[in-house]
Amino acid sequence: MSPSLSRPTRRPERLLIVGSVLTVLLIMAIVTALLIREHANTLQSAKRTANNITQLIDADVLRNVELYDMALKGLIAATERNDLQGVSASIRHLVLFDRSAAAPYKGDILLLDANGEVIADSSLLTPKTGNFADRDYFQMHRKAPDIGLYISRPFMARCICDDQWRIAFSRRISSPDGRFQGVAVASMRLSYFHQLFSSLNIGSNGTINLINHQGILLAQQPMLELDMVDKDLSQRPNVARMLKERDGSFQGTSSVDRQERLYTFSTVGTLPLIVAVALSTDEVFAQWKRAAVLISLATGVLCAGLLWLTWMLSKELRRRHRAEQVLSELAATDALTGLANRRTLDQRVRLEWDRAQRSTEPLTLLMIDVDHFKAFNDRHGHHGGDEALRRVAQVIGDNIRRPADLAARYGGEEFAVVLPHTDAKGAWVIAEHIRCSVERLPRLSVDEPPITVSIGMSTWNKRSRVSLEALLLSADQALYEAKHTGRNRIVDAATQQNL
Ligand code: GH3
Ligand code: MG
Ligand code: MG
Repeated sequence: MSPSLSRPTRRPERLLIVGSVLTVLLIMAIVTALLIREHANTLQSAKRTANNITQLIDADVLRNVELYDMALKGLIAATERNDLQGVSASIRHLVLFDRSAAAPYKGDILLLDANGEVIADSSLLTPKTGNFADRDYFQMHRKAPDIGLYISRPFMARCICDDQWRIAFSRRISSPDGRFQGVAVASMRLSYFHQLFSSLNIGSNGTINLINHQGILLAQQPMLELDMVDKDLSQRPNVARMLKERDGSFQGTSSVDRQERLYTFSTVGTLPLIVAVALSTDEVFAQWKRAAVLISLATGVLCAGLLWLTWMLSKELRRRHRAEQVLSELAATDALTGLANRRTLDQRVRLEWDRAQRSTEPLTLLMIDVDHFKAFNDRHGHHGGDEALRRVAQVIGDNIRRPADLAARYGGEEFAVVLPHTDAKGAWVIAEHIRCSVERLPRLSVDEPPITVSIGMSTWNKRSRVSLEALLLSADQALYEAKHTGRNRIVDAATQQNL
């Protein structure tokens, strides 16, 4: 049994490592939570920006459509006046197109009869001949009497005056009894939308789109594909979702350039038009990504540093623990024999004595003294004497087996053995083993007497009424008795029996 009393514990190191790992995990969790929150904030603010842009466009488009509608309503009201028959063509023209001047980007405002023939033209006093019965705006009004203001699909002007896309705003002209009498129509160049959209900053990869409720593209800025105006996009997943939801926001991949974008869209007032602002998510999150990379790197370095420091500290703690263990073993051990020293013996005897008092289990002490050792020393010198002491100590150590037993060097050529839970009978057996084994130790020469030991033995049991000091003294007296009665023998203090 190791003489060391306290076994150094590795708990502080474990605590340090567990604490550091938990700290690192906590730091990582906090940083992750902050980055997720910042990501959500960035998304929220991008949505707000895009929403503001759609509101701005909505308001502008609504105001302009209102101007066109006013012009159409004025034209229709003028056609219903009977007092215009007698006036000159120029005054009649002036009255008809009285409210049409304010609308920007306007093309012609025309009055068509029930067959689609032009009967009045805002740009010419004498209208040019032309029939627009095939246009969707004409046919819609002829078919349905109550659609109010109609916004047509994009079309190209028939004249070769320009090759710009236009859309038309139209209203039905009905007789007092509700019969179809023609259409008042105003066309608008789609460049109005391009002008409006290009004045807004949506990043280099964003787009602004205007589609009608059938999914027909009216305007896009910048154009992602050529000749997209008037194309039916209703089958494209992102457009289909907008047509279904009418108002909202989502992240989706463009089917044209495979870029991921944040789509924010809304219906323009009560008009069958949807404005969709698509911001590139790469651009939206670019700043967040840079910050995230920097923060992650810094956190990573911090955590790695913390773990490294912890590792170094725990290595140092381990080293110190080992050193402490060695020191405490040295402090408890006799240097010559490797058995427990006197200090350890005193502590252990006291400990086992207290235990025995509590448990009332027997406790036996053996005091062992090498016989005629002075003479042995004189014959073989101190070096030989030391070697003999080491062998005797080895024999004593080998003969005690239980973990609680302790063999110690008491001093000089004297040893002590503490045998807890051992009665006199059991202790006698052990003492006898020790005595015999020492006697059988190999001799240095044939004419050399064997090394022998005398053993004094004293046992405490629950019937004894002695103190520890008395127990020690009686073991000592038993040893003295063994010396006096011839040596190489055991004497039990209780019976003074000897062998
Ligand atoms: P007895 O049988 O009565 O015990 O006689 P003894 O000679 O053994 O007893 P004594 O007390 O007269 O002598 C003990 C000797 O043990 C004296 C000393 O030289 C020797 N001794 C004590 N400690 C050591 C040690 O550490 N090394 C060596 N080599 N000798 C020691
Ligand atoms: Mg002695
Ligand atoms: Mg002696």
